Amino acid sequence: MRNLQRATKIIDALRTRWGKRAYVSTIGLSRILNREFKSLHVVIKFVVDSDRKKSHSWKIAGWYDHRIPGVEPTYPLYEFHVIRRSANPKFMVNKWFWNELLIALAHEFKHADQYRKRNFRQRFTTERRNLSPKADKYYCDFDEIDAHAFETALEWKLRGGNFMDQPTVKEYYKKTRRWAMPEWRRFVKRVHKYFHQL
Ligand SMILES: [Zn+2]
Repeated sequence: MRNLQRATKIIDALRTRWGKRAYVSTIGLSRILNREFKSLHVVIKFVVDSDRKKSHSWKIAGWYDHRIPGVEPTYPLYEFHVIRRSANPKFMVNKWFWNELLIALAHEFKHADQYRKRNFRQRFTTERRNLSPKADKYYCDFDEIDAHAFETALEWKLRGGNFMDQPTVKEYYKKTRRWAMPEWRRFVKRVHKYFHQL
């Protein structure tokens, strides 16, 4: 995937620039990130959600806009929010942040890839016909299984360790194993396939 290779290069340069960890202003950081990723049609924003009760102080959420570069107004195609609990004007950039950002990019790039492979037609089959109504629709969506598998393969490469140790694997196991065994199997198979391709 060419855009993922380009994103990896950009992130590697930023890792070198700030070293192992650095405490930087979010304004300056988002300015630099948006400049570096502009050619990939990526926009990154820092937002605050003080109601976040999760154990981590931040997370990254991404969106892909189903448009084709060059055909419609192209900027941005991808938007990412670094959602933080605190409004601290400074943010710690470290290995975890760069890895999470790359993983989030990989997920959305995969959605664009799926769209491109369908000649830019909207998705048609999104889930198994006889899927249990109790199953989690989002995690059982075929495109989401594929994008999560790709993201997980990259996560696994970056973090190392065992398959079941990866946070996204645990999440998928929790969400699909009970009501959607075929989807769980599909996910596992794909993670391994992408792991060997990356
Ligand atoms: Zn997705």
